[in-house]
Amino acid sequence: TSFAHFGFDEQLLKAVRKAEYTQPTPIQAQAVPAALSGRDIIGIAKTGSGKTAAFIWPLLTHLMDQRELRAGDGPIGLILAPTRELSLQIYNEAKKFGKVYNINVVCCYGGGSKWEQSKALEQGCEIVVATPGRMIDMVKMKATNLRRVTFLVLDEADRMFHMGFEPQVRSICNHVRPDRQTLLFSATFKKRIERLARDILTDPVRIVQ
Ligand code: AMP
Repeated sequence: TSFAHFGFDEQLLKAVRKAEYTQPTPIQAQAVPAALSGRDIIGIAKTGSGKTAAFIWPLLTHLMDQRELRAGDGPIGLILAPTRELSLQIYNEAKKFGKVYNINVVCCYGGGSKWEQSKALEQGCEIVVATPGRMIDMVKMKATNLRRVTFLVLDEADRMFHMGFEPQVRSICNHVRPDRQTLLFSATFKKRIERLARDILTDPVRIVQ
């Protein structure tokens, strides 16, 4: 598979070329076409597999497909991640590829300034990358809302569960409209993640790295 096969928009292809990626990684080769066709996904993949771009590219394409973006609105794409470090990595990847489209990305993580994060959210954005507890805090503070979310990603779901975020993750999933597209990534696939997948995904494509 080459990047040309994905049918990306010319701008996105340009950004991919600029990143000097020569070919898709195996997880990208499988996950990107499935995600572009609108399917839910379970990806069993570790850091280093290229999984971040595997969900960022379809998310950006999803945003392009429904461009009636109004300032001051909540996100259309929501990505949940276990830690500040991972959230920031995803944030940077989203900025890198979203720049060509003028996409606004906001990152919210526990331990960061609630004031700064809520101010950033209040400007409006298309993508939020967040740790689960802080996302809930932001919604409770009414800094943003989940009404517009139609593309939901859970990254490193097993790590979020290990850190005790299962109730927050489930609560957020329950507050996002059910006709969303959902992508679930996890390094392991044990009972608890299997149960989550059954509860939040619709007829998912299963991809093992
Ligand atoms: P990830 O597994 O998403 O954390 O990605 C690991 C690293 O691989 C990151 O530094 C990415 O920028 C890089 N990367 C992602 N996709 C590709 C690709 N197709 N070719 C080369 N590098 C990539």
